Amino acid sequence: MSKEKIALFTIFGGTGDLAQRKLYPSLFKLYQKGYLREHFAVIGTARRPWTDEHYHEVIATSLASLNADPAAVTQFASHFYYQSHDVTDAQHYVTLKKLSAKLDAQYGLQGNRIFYLAMAPNFFGTIAQHLRSEQILTTNGFNRVIIEKPFGHDFASAKELNDQLTATFNENQIYRIDHYLGKEMIQNISAIRFGNSIWEALWNNRYISNVQVTLSEKLGVEERAVYYDNSGALRDMVQNHIMQIISLLTMDQPVEFTEHDIDVEKVKALRSLRTLKPEEVPANFVRGQYAATDQVKDYRSEDKISPDSNTDTFVAGKLMVDNYRWSGVPFYIRTGKRLADKFTRIDIVFKRPIVNIFNHEDVQKNDDENSRLNANVLTINVEPTEGFELRMNAKHVGQGFATTPVKLNFALDSQSVSDSPEAYERLLHDVLNGDATNFTHWDEVAYSWKFVDTIQKYWDEHTPTFPNYQPGSMGPTAADDLLQRDGHEWIYKS
Ligand code: NAD
Repeated sequence: MSKEKIALFTIFGGTGDLAQRKLYPSLFKLYQKGYLREHFAVIGTARRPWTDEHYHEVIATSLASLNADPAAVTQFASHFYYQSHDVTDAQHYVTLKKLSAKLDAQYGLQGNRIFYLAMAPNFFGTIAQHLRSEQILTTNGFNRVIIEKPFGHDFASAKELNDQLTATFNENQIYRIDHYLGKEMIQNISAIRFGNSIWEALWNNRYISNVQVTLSEKLGVEERAVYYDNSGALRDMVQNHIMQIISLLTMDQPVEFTEHDIDVEKVKALRSLRTLKPEEVPANFVRGQYAATDQVKDYRSEDKISPDSNTDTFVAGKLMVDNYRWSGVPFYIRTGKRLADKFTRIDIVFKRPIVNIFNHEDVQKNDDENSRLNANVLTINVEPTEGFELRMNAKHVGQGFATTPVKLNFALDSQSVSDSPEAYERLLHDVLNGDATNFTHWDEVAYSWKFVDTIQKYWDEHTPTFPNYQPGSMGPTAADDLLQRDGHEWIYKS
């Protein structure tokens, strides 16, 4: 059976950064692998008055770093059509409809349509409404819409956005991108958990002491300043990526590994998160904003950032999951800008053995903290290294019987990593297949926002003392205190 997929892509925001940096290279890789061949076409739309020829040059430039065969690039780019289009102008949809129908006939696209909204979310409602009113959706093929983050600013705005989209599309036609869900090692969480009896047997509060999720960025706010200053780390990273990771770590085993069954379990997990009362926020969530050093500006001095901005560039938090599996196990999360390094990792910290039978000559058993054996830690390295690490206790080489921590290490080899599709390529392929497993469903979005809204509201009503952390560190000291109060510490320290 041919693996070729058949579809017309309409990219709103076709001249934008996302389209050029991510979408065109990902579509090209799907083309190189034979998932897209003859029966596909792409309409790029934006306001600028580009010609098709110019558009083809832009496509070729966006693929330059792939060092591909120029003939293949030309052939690929010939499937691209540019349509100058203001998404707020109803008349422009009439032209778009005609072009869509023409390309459908020309390439034999069977009415299959994928609409990629690579634009600011305030346009999503208008676009969806016009696609319906101008009858651009087909009845003979599939219609799918892909949207980018941010999905709302809080629960109320997310609901409003969702209502606008669902006036045109059913939930099963909406693909909300969270590119973390396209990452190899995030997808691997389920493989580790449900593919290995040793882990699933231990994946609960009897054996796990705490879980730590870190999404660390080294850069400052860079070119997304205006957006970021209205958002902050909590909304930009926790509501979506971190909540998704938490739901994958905490969910029960789905009956089958299908979109529906996974969504059911993720929602159950998110619903089990303990809701904070406003007065509990400061003890459970820490916010931060970076200061200046000799080399870098402080956040408030960055371009386009207000000098009295109280936006959080760092957040750490403690989440509790109130169910039989997780009761009593803290999930610590942290993310921020201008931290020590750029990486994403998950540390599963197991309980330490209750008795240390090895050190009896040096220290009294059980009544001295130092006499305890080290905890086993399973680390899932998401990026830049992709793999797992397991910290164990082994006998120290030589005389006597001291123990020492050793590491079992698995990292994907560089060939597998370079062969592995990038998140956007993988997710576009999923959309072509009609598989929304690795996309965020509305009920997940809703629960995540409700959780985050409590924290944001408390923060909005209380003025922070910013700046409060040094670039190159792992955030404010309060983020360390958060764990120390529970007798824990971050496994990764800068
Ligand atoms: P961008 O500003 O580079 O591009 C926006 C596009 O929208 C441009 O093509 C512009 O011409 C077009 N546009 C604006 N107003 C228009 C109008 N009235 N009619 C028609 N076209 C109009 O933005 P971007 O960085 O490509 O981001 C697009 C979306 O993707 C945003 O929602 C953003 O939050 C999201 N996103 C982007 C990235 C990224 O890496 N760039 C990452 C995650 C999410």
